[in-house]
Amino acid sequence: MTFESLSLIPSILKALAQEGYTAPTPIQAQAIPVVLRGKDLLGCAQTGTGKTAAFALPIIQLLLQNKNNNTSKNHIRSLIVTPTRELAIQIEESFKVYGGFTDLKYTVIFGGVNQHSQVKTLNRGVDVLIATPGRLLDLINQGIINLGKIEIFVLDEADRMLDMGFIHDVKRLIALLPNKRQSLFFSATMPPEITKLANTILVNPERVEV
Ligand code: AMP
Repeated sequence: MTFESLSLIPSILKALAQEGYTAPTPIQAQAIPVVLRGKDLLGCAQTGTGKTAAFALPIIQLLLQNKNNNTSKNHIRSLIVTPTRELAIQIEESFKVYGGFTDLKYTVIFGGVNQHSQVKTLNRGVDVLIATPGRLLDLINQGIINLGKIEIFVLDEADRMLDMGFIHDVKRLIALLPNKRQSLFFSATMPPEITKLANTILVNPERVEV
């Protein structure tokens, strides 16, 4: 299995080659074709499996391919919600690497720091926003962020989100997303509560497990 055989575009293949990635991991091999087809995805995978690239690579590609529909306004097109600041920063770094040969813009927001520089970056326009739930809701409530044009939504580490008490924040966020969207849901474990949450977010999902 090669990244070429997953129909990834040259600008992404170039970034992967530069990183020294020679073959997709199992979660990447399974998830990338599903996401590129525009399907919702339920992914059962832990950190360390290559999960980030499994969603970041097809998201970058889809945003580039669907660009013509969305040239008019500066708005956030893809939202990744993850439970911790460390994960959020790692995911943003991954997007910057994998999308380094594209003109897409990425940024990360999280709590515990002054919002000023985050707001400044947001105001310059971003395509992909990586966020922790609390700061995201805060900036939405201040009218700084609008989720009305999100095309692809990712909920990362859903089980940890639940453990950390973010379930109500997550539900509030989901209510603000457009109904017409693609959603990807990742969790290391699938207890009943998580399955229930997934069912409220995903439409006719394909399930991948590693
Ligand atoms: P993740 O599970 O997304 O946190 O990724 C775990 C680590 O694997 C990260 O350091 C990635 O840079 C690396 N990685 C992801 N996909 C691949 C791949 N296909 N080949 C080599 N390394 C990879």
